[in-house]
Amino acid sequence: MQTLPAGFLSNGSANKDARPTINLPRPKLWRPKRVFVTPSALEWEHGHAMLARAEALGCEIVRLKANRLVRLAGEDPRRTYVDAKNTLAIVVAPPAKLHLQPIPPSADWRLDLAEGCPAHCQYCYLAGSLTGPPVTRVYANLPEILSAAERHLDRGAITSRSAKRRHEGTTFEASCYTDPLGIEHLTGSLAETIRYFAQLDAAVQLRFTSKFDAVEPLLNLDHKRRTRMRVSVNAPSLVCFEGGTAGLRTRLQAARRMAEAGYRIGLTIAPIMPMGGWREEYQTLLDLAAATLGERPGADLTVELITHRFTAGSKEVLTGWYPGSSLDMDEATRAQKRTKYGSLKYVYEPEVMRQMRDFFMAELPIRLPDAQVLYWT
Ligand code: SF4
Repeated sequence: MQTLPAGFLSNGSANKDARPTINLPRPKLWRPKRVFVTPSALEWEHGHAMLARAEALGCEIVRLKANRLVRLAGEDPRRTYVDAKNTLAIVVAPPAKLHLQPIPPSADWRLDLAEGCPAHCQYCYLAGSLTGPPVTRVYANLPEILSAAERHLDRGAITSRSAKRRHEGTTFEASCYTDPLGIEHLTGSLAETIRYFAQLDAAVQLRFTSKFDAVEPLLNLDHKRRTRMRVSVNAPSLVCFEGGTAGLRTRLQAARRMAEAGYRIGLTIAPIMPMGGWREEYQTLLDLAAATLGERPGADLTVELITHRFTAGSKEVLTGWYPGSSLDMDEATRAQKRTKYGSLKYVYEPEVMRQMRDFFMAELPIRLPDAQVLYWT
């Protein structure tokens, strides 16, 4: 069993109606040490519901007098990081979050239900996009966020324009700034969003990816197969970089349970890295995935393949958060690529990329013949 940082507990989420399945350990749920709630968040019913969940978990509640989060810095950067990762803030999403942005290659639109994540992944993709201490902010104005999604139906320009993916309808990605399943026991936002998408009179798909496994509250929802859950997985030897997340096997078992409940599922294999013995390592991962997910008729399994990359900014943030990390972020061994915003990112050299891509394109059809590869990047 993976050792978890303080703040995670194993009390399971109680959904008595969850479908029976193989014997699984109870998911470990995050219990933040302190929960800030702003006055404007309490103008929303969903804000009160999230507060009630935090109170039921026994968290210390701090009712703020103003809407700004202040005094988040501790006495040193380490203390600031630890305190922030143990803090949940129930807030109202800023207006910019209601103007959805395209999110290639995953989806037509980014749909943020929260920002931040309690886990401690040393290659966290949020490092380049979050500013300030990594407090997890959850949004009370969920009805406004869902209305914004509805305004963007039939207006997608990413997957909606792709011949290969047009059949998915307008796609919305909920994992760009958070791991929504990792905080679902505190928010209930993902379940609400799944229900909302199910009743829309339009071709639409909600997508989220997760390194967590507490799927019980989602299993019996009326989802109408309009949600695709992907589990974010990596080679077994790299999972040690993913502190505070669910184990690799339990993530895959969570995906299997979602498939049994009729959801579309997928694998996000990320970040792919060419460490020593990488072929054998990724073969082991694919074997494990095939053993857990293979032979699930109607599972509708997709695969997304994302190689490791970093920017100067994300490297600086990650080095600050995890100063002793052995994660390879040596610019000298990388190729440079311009981001769509004009900044530089460091990716693997073309020959290394080619070898890894060829490997996955050859091995995936052998082990998961029904899986559809959505993209390689
Ligand atoms: Fe970041 Fe995802 Fe890890 Fe959370 S689970 S710390 S969002 S990489």
